[in-house]
Amino acid sequence: MATNLTMPQLKKSIIVVGAGPGGYVTAIKAAQMGAKVSLIEADKVGGTCLNVGCIPTKALIHVSATFSAIKEQSAKLGITVSGMDVDWAKAQQYKGSIVKTLVGGVEGLLKANGVAVYRGRGIVKDAHTIQVGSETLTADSIILAVGSEPVRIPIPGADLPGVIDSTGTLALTEIPKSFVIIGGGVIGIEFASLFASLGTKCTIVEALPRILPPIDAEITRMVRADLEARGIDILTDARVESIEQSGASYTVHMNYQGQAQTVEGEKVLMCVGRRAMTQGIGLEEAGIVLNRGKIVTDDHFQTNIPGIYAIGDCNGKLMLAHAASAQGIAAVNYIMTGRDSYHAETVPSCIYLEPEVASVGMKEEELQEQGIAYRCGTFPLSGNGKALIEAGGKGIIKILADAKYGQILGVHIYGPRATDLIAAAAIAIRLEATVDEFTSTVWAHPTVGEALGEAAEAVFGNSIHWPPKKK
Ligand code: NAD
Repeated sequence: MATNLTMPQLKKSIIVVGAGPGGYVTAIKAAQMGAKVSLIEADKVGGTCLNVGCIPTKALIHVSATFSAIKEQSAKLGITVSGMDVDWAKAQQYKGSIVKTLVGGVEGLLKANGVAVYRGRGIVKDAHTIQVGSETLTADSIILAVGSEPVRIPIPGADLPGVIDSTGTLALTEIPKSFVIIGGGVIGIEFASLFASLGTKCTIVEALPRILPPIDAEITRMVRADLEARGIDILTDARVESIEQSGASYTVHMNYQGQAQTVEGEKVLMCVGRRAMTQGIGLEEAGIVLNRGKIVTDDHFQTNIPGIYAIGDCNGKLMLAHAASAQGIAAVNYIMTGRDSYHAETVPSCIYLEPEVASVGMKEEELQEQGIAYRCGTFPLSGNGKALIEAGGKGIIKILADAKYGQILGVHIYGPRATDLIAAAAIAIRLEATVDEFTSTVWAHPTVGEALGEAAEAVFGNSIHWPPKKK
């Protein structure tokens, strides 16, 4: 049908529920694209990520990594330091000031983009209606971005006062002397690294045979060895069965490789995953299909009810802040233009350790499982000047490329600045770049980034700064 350009275009209206990195980004993008936007938030804008997740954790990791860098390297670097200590209260203030600045920034951005913010819990009434407090809001489309919350395993002692989750850990008023960490996923490993650098004796208890299951197995083995060398005890194949309080400390009982075993700590961190916060907001009543608490969506992030979308942690596709933002932008693009914009294969994973871990694209195990013919290029960072200067040359870069055309399928980095370097790899995957395009790019020297070019060269056995494999 021809559009009559003289007819006024009706403005689309969108209600976004939840103002975490999924919801607030979605709201701003929708407003930029000309929609009338209402955003509902029960707590502070910024959600888990800004208030009790990524940002405060990384602020404290910055404190602990700076402390350990000075402690471990000062003598070697010729820096004289005495009386070095961590003032935890000040570290917490630093964390709080970063969070406050960013939350204030998001509030300002929402206002500047004309997004109407409603305070309260949004309850879904039907495909176009949300109740918030005494107000009833209606819109053409609804985007649910209600996030997730930590899971607690239902074992005896799980509710004892010293058994805390990630939010409780970020609010600790003192650095614990010992910490038992249940769960060797991203949260457990990041907190173990953070507190070990501050002198806490950390023990990780993981039910599976390996820590960090989503990460490349070779890198996981290197990370584990480095964490153990830093004094962190890691028990795998260890299923926690109960926790009991014994005076000021806690005893964690487990089945460790078939044997009963206990480990003690002043605090116990339970980080065994997160679940979608989909209860009590009218989803079942509105007929929205859930699968084990997660909202089921199609490729456009639309639920079974046309006009209602769900993005981020609450759809359970990928519990990462940047995935939530990208999904929200994609849902808005689809609503406003009918076009898709989400490229799941470009979503990076980042783990903030010393050094960092980052990856994007396919893992070697996945390529093998799917029978895809591939070549692997690995470059150890001991061959890279900047990595040697900054982190003793610890780590590797691994590039997986299609065997026939050399298309880059996966990039895995363990080393300094990994979480920033991965951006180049994500763009390469988005552009379907080949190893040739990587090697014919000029990488600045001296940078850790030039090791990406070397790893690409290694796909065909040609790294400049690494000897060829013996034939
Ligand atoms: P996770 O799912 O990553 O890891 C939980 C671990 O707990 C698993 O390895 C599991 O096997 C183990 N576990 C479960 N039950 C157990 C038991 N009874 N005894 C011992 N171990 C047990 O969950 P998480 O670490 O809590 O993180 C939650 C989410 O937040 C994840 O999706 C994660 O990706 C995300 N997150 C990401 C970042 C980041 O990107 N840097 C940081 C923090 C959190």
